[in-house]
Amino acid sequence: MAAERVIIFDTTLRDGEQTPGVSFHRSEKVEIAKALEAMGVDVIEAGFAAASRGDYKAVSAISQELKRATVCALARCVEADIEAASQALEKAAHKRIHVFIATSPIHMADKLHMTPDEVYEAAVRSTRLARQLCDDVEFSLEDATRTEREFLYRVVEGVIRAGATTVNLPDTVGYAAVQEYGQLFRDVLEKVPGADAVTLSVHCHNDLGLAVATSLEGVRCGARQVECTINGLGERAGNAAMEEIVMGLRTRREYYHCDTSVDAHGIYRVSRTIASLSGVEPAPNKPVVGANAFQHQSGIHQHGMLNNRATYEVMHPEDLGMPQQSLALGKLSGSHALADRAQQLGYALDGPALQSAFRRFKELADRKKEITDRDIVAILREQKLTAQGAYRLFAFQIFTGNRMTSTATVTLEKNGETTTRAACGDGPVEACFNAVDAITGMPCALQSYNIKAVTEGQDALGEVTVRVRSGEETMLGRGVSTDVLEASCLAYINAVNRLIEHQELELAAEVQP
Ligand code: MN
Repeated sequence: MAAERVIIFDTTLRDGEQTPGVSFHRSEKVEIAKALEAMGVDVIEAGFAAASRGDYKAVSAISQELKRATVCALARCVEADIEAASQALEKAAHKRIHVFIATSPIHMADKLHMTPDEVYEAAVRSTRLARQLCDDVEFSLEDATRTEREFLYRVVEGVIRAGATTVNLPDTVGYAAVQEYGQLFRDVLEKVPGADAVTLSVHCHNDLGLAVATSLEGVRCGARQVECTINGLGERAGNAAMEEIVMGLRTRREYYHCDTSVDAHGIYRVSRTIASLSGVEPAPNKPVVGANAFQHQSGIHQHGMLNNRATYEVMHPEDLGMPQQSLALGKLSGSHALADRAQQLGYALDGPALQSAFRRFKELADRKKEITDRDIVAILREQKLTAQGAYRLFAFQIFTGNRMTSTATVTLEKNGETTTRAACGDGPVEACFNAVDAITGMPCALQSYNIKAVTEGQDALGEVTVRVRSGEETMLGRGVSTDVLEASCLAYINAVNRLIEHQELELAAEVQP
């Protein structure tokens, strides 16, 4: 049966980055954009070029890297914004300028202080300018779901005439009811001349838990682009989650008669990457990618699953690239076996990366009997964050108790030399971090600290993620160990190494002409 194609527009790097506490570094943005492209995402919104120098540089770095996917930059209805977007996109093989303005009475009156006529003029004028600079122009009517209908039709018609090739009707505040949102698309297609000749797009927020439902209903009623983020990252309650949209359309293809170009096998890995780099872990019961999304607890369910998986599963975790069987790797396995397994899990390992992953694997194999795929993934993710030629944890010792100040003695190695310092703290973790600061000479403020068990059981790996701040920069670090204090120490050192590496890179970039 023929399925119509729905364009997947990822905005993890723009709307997703507006999540409180989340900020990606440029190199991380490039890594994410490449992973999204490899997975088959059609359009990648790389940022808001006029917002800051960092955003501009990120859009331009992504533009240089991507080959197949369209790179999109956001702009307000302001000449300077549109020109900045166009310049940042200059090197992109496929580019799109995305212009937006709010059209609801409350946004026009209380945010923009503009009359409807002024908003209409700005929308048409800006679309025309964007179209002179780029063949692919998207126009968004911010807060479309609270916009008066006649005015909405007028703006949509105006921007189509001015050259918009995609028109997006966002449910900016997650207000729309499901059928109501679908009807909006039917009405626009019926009432606005030219609407059937452009791509209509959905963009939904999850304030009332309906982002995915409203998006799918929009598709059912004629929209052919979905704007979404990995893990549903985004401001407030987040955006529609890409993995749910993709699997929703694919699992019920016979109902929607629509599908996307996304290769679902990349979903799990990209979801883990975003969880790592954002520091925002999806809830365990998060659909598609949550830790419990494919767990079956009750006896009746387990019995059914053993007879026929379709009894309780509408999709298969292996189709999402989730690691399945536990691995027959242990103490005696060689580096080839590890490289092979890593490859199957989607990580290419060779040279120094393989050596250092293998060293971590051996350390773990000494402490933990059975090494599962999830353990391997935790090690590989930690490796990914590891900077080269930096500080390594050599030894630590901690004195701690409930009625005493904790004291930590930490020895770090750098370029073959070891340095030891002792420090106190309110608890063992803080004492360790203070000792590390004393060695590196770079005082850092801890912004967040998260710990979770990678697998079940007493010898489970603990995975610690920290976010530290030094001056203007914040950085994530990760450490895994069967010992949670060691994992904490490793995570902190990891973050500090990355901060040092980042500062050196920024310095080098400033020196170059
Ligand atoms: Mn949004």
